[in-house]
Amino acid sequence: MNNNKITTTNPYNGETLESYTLHSKEELKEKLNLANEEFKSWKTTEISDRVELLSNLADELENDKTSLSLLMTKEMGKPISESIAEIEKCIFLIDFYAQNAEDFLADSIIKTDAHESFISYDPLGCILAVMPWNYPFWQVFRFAIPTLTAGNVGLLKHASNVTGCALAIEELFIKAGFPKGCFQTLLAKHEDIEELIGNDIIKAVSLTGSEKAGKSIAETAGKHLKKCVLELGGNNACIILKDADLDKHIDTIVKARMQNSGQSCIAAKRFVVVEEIYDEFLEKFTEKVENLKYNNPENTETTISCLARPDLADTLEDQVKKSIDLGAKVHYGNSRSNAYYEPTILTNITREMPVFREETFGPIAAIIKVSNEEEAYQIALDSRFGLGSMVFTEDYEKATERILDIEDGAFFINEMVKSDPRLPFGGTKASGYGRELSKEGILEFVNTKTIYINK
Ligand code: NAP
Repeated sequence: MNNNKITTTNPYNGETLESYTLHSKEELKEKLNLANEEFKSWKTTEISDRVELLSNLADELENDKTSLSLLMTKEMGKPISESIAEIEKCIFLIDFYAQNAEDFLADSIIKTDAHESFISYDPLGCILAVMPWNYPFWQVFRFAIPTLTAGNVGLLKHASNVTGCALAIEELFIKAGFPKGCFQTLLAKHEDIEELIGNDIIKAVSLTGSEKAGKSIAETAGKHLKKCVLELGGNNACIILKDADLDKHIDTIVKARMQNSGQSCIAAKRFVVVEEIYDEFLEKFTEKVENLKYNNPENTETTISCLARPDLADTLEDQVKKSIDLGAKVHYGNSRSNAYYEPTILTNITREMPVFREETFGPIAAIIKVSNEEEAYQIALDSRFGLGSMVFTEDYEKATERILDIEDGAFFINEMVKSDPRLPFGGTKASGYGRELSKEGILEFVNTKTIYINK
């Protein structure tokens, strides 16, 4: 981004894709006013009418799946098969809320001394979403679908490198028949966003992004007493206990780290492996990583791609280098070219290394050998972040005894931590607060209003 322009670039080949002019302050104000006007009528529409538009939106996504997937792949380098899967997941999310939103938002009767008392879940107004590039459609849809269905209107400030996706999403809402001010994309600088948060029309903010962005947005929102939901980074542990069935789960375990070329907040970043199974794990994990297919992300066979921008590879390189300086050993990989970072396996990991303490946003697996189960959980819990933990063991009942010990937003047993519209999603500690998806997600941006009626 420079001055008033955003230029998008294909990270795989460095080709310039498109150039966009940022919205002027006047244009941003117009969009804000339009959102405010639209809210007055949108909030009075029946939920059933909003749900009807959802099914149009699902149809639009289905119709444009090929071109939208390609746009995503060109802008941020995701393998095309994963882009297609992302669009399909958005459709699943839409279907989920189409089926359940009316139940989730129905008045909740509570017996008290009143003649009648209940909770009414009313929309708040205009909600600002600041979103990341790693899942350019999914992140936006998981904000927008519940938020709009609850009767709010939305404004999106997407990551600059996926501006084409941001505009395509706005267009999809229009094509599906949503009124014009219901969902709008803003092309804006950070300073403009901070100013917008202070505007009375904005009632709350949802940010998915880095810890740094989270602190900055939360500070501004706090200053103006605006609610915010923060979905930030993570360095999830994946515990492998001595009785884990590796033949059954190794594909899932590798996917947990390498999907989206390692650029997922909930990816397994630290593998904590009990010594009895360590050699077998390392061998099987390495074999699968060796088989990942790097190629043009537009090729359907490609399973691992470049990162979304060369500077992201710079950060990763720095984290790996510092960890090696502190004694980490390269077991596999570790070459780099522009935005491409080779899938890399590091061993001899200690707690002070960046690959242990920080979030690594790329295909780097830090493997930690521990002597027993107790130590495995202790190491896994040693994190500033709190998105999720996973454990692989045949004794799933014993693993459930650890539920209370896990401080994260999620604990998955014999499965990778993943998002699912039916289940709440969110973190604790430096991973943020608030929840998206499920009933909890649709109730984040509502006024939980108490109604008390006496005769
Ligand atoms: P980022 O650099 O924090 O950017 C995220 C969004 O915030 C972008 O739209 C960015 O705009 C904007 N932004 C950053 N600072 C801002 C500020 N001061 N004021 C207004 N807007 C600001 O993160 P990213 O590199 O795009 O995404 C990767 C991060 O997101 C990782 O840490 C990942 O773990 C996290 N993430 C978390 C979740 C979750 O659910 N917990 C999901 C996905 C990703 P520009 O692009 O214009 O800078």
